[in-house]
Amino acid sequence: AVRVRYAPSPTGSLHLGGLRTALYNYLFAKGADGAFLLRIEDTDQKRLVHGAAEQLERTLARFGMVPDEPVQMQSQRLDLYGRAAEELVRDGHAYPCFCSAERLDAVRQRQARGGSRTAYDRKCRSLAPEEAAARVAHGEAHTVRLKAPLEGATLVRDGIRGVVSFPNNMMDDQVLQKSDGFPTYHLASVVDDHDMDISHVIRGDEWLSSTPKHLTLYEMMGWRTPKFFHLPLLLNKDHSKLSKRNSDASVEALLEASGYEIPAITNFVALLGWSPAHQAHLGHLGGDQDADGQQDLVYPTMDSLVRAFDLSKCSRKGAVVDMDFLHFLNGQHIRRMDRALLARLARQQLAPLDTSAFPDDYVEQAVSLVVERVFHLSDVGETVRHFVTDGADWERDATATTAVLAGHPDPAAVLRAASRALGDLKSWDAATLKTALRGVRTAAQAEAGGAELSVQQVMLLVRWATTGATKGPQLADALALLGRRRVMDRLAQGLQ
Ligand code: GLU
Repeated sequence: AVRVRYAPSPTGSLHLGGLRTALYNYLFAKGADGAFLLRIEDTDQKRLVHGAAEQLERTLARFGMVPDEPVQMQSQRLDLYGRAAEELVRDGHAYPCFCSAERLDAVRQRQARGGSRTAYDRKCRSLAPEEAAARVAHGEAHTVRLKAPLEGATLVRDGIRGVVSFPNNMMDDQVLQKSDGFPTYHLASVVDDHDMDISHVIRGDEWLSSTPKHLTLYEMMGWRTPKFFHLPLLLNKDHSKLSKRNSDASVEALLEASGYEIPAITNFVALLGWSPAHQAHLGHLGGDQDADGQQDLVYPTMDSLVRAFDLSKCSRKGAVVDMDFLHFLNGQHIRRMDRALLARLARQQLAPLDTSAFPDDYVEQAVSLVVERVFHLSDVGETVRHFVTDGADWERDATATTAVLAGHPDPAAVLRAASRALGDLKSWDAATLKTALRGVRTAAQAEAGGAELSVQQVMLLVRWATTGATKGPQLADALALLGRRRVMDRLAQGLQ
């Protein structure tokens, strides 16, 4: 059975990398009818941040990632690690080390000065086991170190990276248990993955180099090893390593400060290192693929993502975190939202403006017309504002007005021409309006005393006068929805 775990250290808020690791574990587990577990790795007491574990759990839950079993806290499982350390020492796979911090420092400095790799010089490895045991029994302060193999190589068979060989002479006699009795990450992680019966370890690339130590421990304990999958690094656009201090990288900030939607973030994070098979040729995502290509990358629900996700299609190349792509996806998700809901939100956001004169189905149609321009839910009200306000509530941005008027010798003449062209239309629908609008330029030029005006100039002015925006849906569609009376009023009113 598939059993996976997300094993964060509660040292701060959740970042994109952590969310990606959690999500890939979750998607893989759900796709295989397996179990997704959460383990809080809180054995490094110095780095603990109060409340961080609870916050992590809450944030994961907001994304729908709820562990299938009670959350395990490593600080509550110290006995387990203690017994494993004892067993390893007893069987000659680990040894007590009595070296002081000062001595270890001096060794490191000497090695660094000599230009060699810094590693423990294995002084205590050669102590007679009886002597070491006696000193431990006397209560002498000590750590427990791994007796790393000195020769040969350890092969990591990674589901993403393939087979990677690590020479054993580069493996340190890693501390497994600290002098305060707490385990280090390496011991606790292996003991727990075994104890929790983890079948697949899916984690960030930065742990790949620790895996030979873990494999060595599995072998020493005689335990079956899980399968390993190391996820590609996350990169900035310039391909530097994504920094944790980059505020964009904090998931809470993306939700609260930047106002991105959970499905969009989920979708975005899912594509950081994975892409569906037929998209593989695109390489780094969020680049310049065509509109159809982008369509295929939108997963509106967690279920659709579970169905599409394939761990074996993960890339080993670093994944570029492109916030423009998140922006795009957020827009895609808003476009898929229920129109009635969006219309209600728009009304709420525009309050205290009274939009009650506009019926629900009208507001929903207006939202449908502008929704392509909405990239943040908080903007829906503002985007639809000029469709659902009239009279004194209908404000126009003065700076934009100046820009629209630039180069117009006689703006009023243009609006008069538009009024005449639209005024006596037999029917008021988008097709009729479209045809009528075509005649406005010539009429406007004549009205303005033969001045040369471009189509764009004329249409921009008409759009500005009638919709209060310089961009938007097809003008004919907008006018059709606004209705004859409102459009004629706005044209007559001009730009004051
Ligand atoms: N506690 C480690 C972390 O914070 C877990 C690494 C692993 O999954 O083994 O990423």
